[in-house]
Amino acid sequence: MHDPKVFRSMHEARFHAEPAVFVAPGRVNLIGEHTDYAEGFVMPVAINFATLAGISPRTDGKIVIYSENYGEEKTFEAGQPIVAAKHWSDYPMGVVSILTGEGHKIPGFSLSLWGDVPLGSGLSSSAALEVVTALAVLSLIGASYPGPVLARLCQRVENEFVGANCGIMDQFISANGKENHALLLDCRDLSFRLAPIPANVALVIANTMVKHSIAGGDYPTRRRESEAACAIINGHRGGVPFLRDATLEDLEKWGSEMEPKSYLRAKHVITEDLRTVAASEALLRGDMKELGRLMAEAHTSYSKDFEGSCVEADLMVELANELPGLIGARLTGGGFGGCTINLVEQDKAQAFADELRKRYAAKTGIVPEIHICHASDGAHQLK
Ligand code: ADP
Ligand code: MG
Repeated sequence: MHDPKVFRSMHEARFHAEPAVFVAPGRVNLIGEHTDYAEGFVMPVAINFATLAGISPRTDGKIVIYSENYGEEKTFEAGQPIVAAKHWSDYPMGVVSILTGEGHKIPGFSLSLWGDVPLGSGLSSSAALEVVTALAVLSLIGASYPGPVLARLCQRVENEFVGANCGIMDQFISANGKENHALLLDCRDLSFRLAPIPANVALVIANTMVKHSIAGGDYPTRRRESEAACAIINGHRGGVPFLRDATLEDLEKWGSEMEPKSYLRAKHVITEDLRTVAASEALLRGDMKELGRLMAEAHTSYSKDFEGSCVEADLMVELANELPGLIGARLTGGGFGGCTINLVEQDKAQAFADELRKRYAAKTGIVPEIHICHASDGAHQLK
């Protein structure tokens, strides 16, 4: 199905119409976890796992959406209010709902979807789905938005429609990624800087096979805990609406007034911002050793202070640290499972992946999916 021709014929066979086809990638975050909603810094990469959308107009006033991943079709009436149904169609229909709220009149259409971003594994299949649907629907009505604005609209789909209180990172990188580059994003003003990933460095993504869910309990709890610490600092000196504005000195000064957990969550977020900016500078000057060191430090902070990891992810990182060729390893994404990102010397990447799979399976009895990926372009139309 990687072949857009096969995808196109699937749409044609089902809907008897020629589709316009779009692609949006999943992502892996090199560093900067739980900093995006605190208006801080993140450094993700768009990956060569993506979601495809084919769209064609309809004349019967219906919106018909098919996901090849689920083998399921859903029908809606164009122009009618849309309610979330805790179903995969919430993501594409959320896009329709948000665009309608922006004043667009969305007519009937057929949409087919297929993706190879593993679902619910922390590689952001949901953002890929939102961004690809938005591009497809906007093209249908002859509209477009700049990448950063598109990302904001798709984040609103997740926040306001799906009910997952995520930040802007996933949608932003899916819309704006660049081949062979990582993207340092300032989540406050959405300014960004691209840093090339050296050709001799591979991105090895290791799936712990433990499912995470950001709509579930832990992600919002951590967010609340870190925001409670922020409110205490803000109460004292003002000018700290987000942890982005707080310093380690603030934390030391007023930390005793915080719940111990809140203190630790905030410590992670504040130090993570510093690490993420330092990591982008290391990458820009090609200092992979320093980048790897910062990734290791980030994992410890994520695991110990933020308590956002799990036994399996800690093990995956520990095993990676024993293997030749590793530059840096950490749990990536919203936490509590999902994938680790390993920067590995390219010529050792295959052996690294094989050995990591073997050792993790031996310890846990679970065979992990391990992918050697590369940084890819953000969402675009496939001609
Ligand atoms: P992640 O974004 O890390 O993959 P989420 O739980 O945020 O995990 O999003 C996964 C959900 O997104 C799936 O359960 C499904 O509802 C939806 N989804 C993603 N890709 C597709 C697809 N190709 N077809 C239908 N639904 C999809
Ligand atoms: Mg998601």
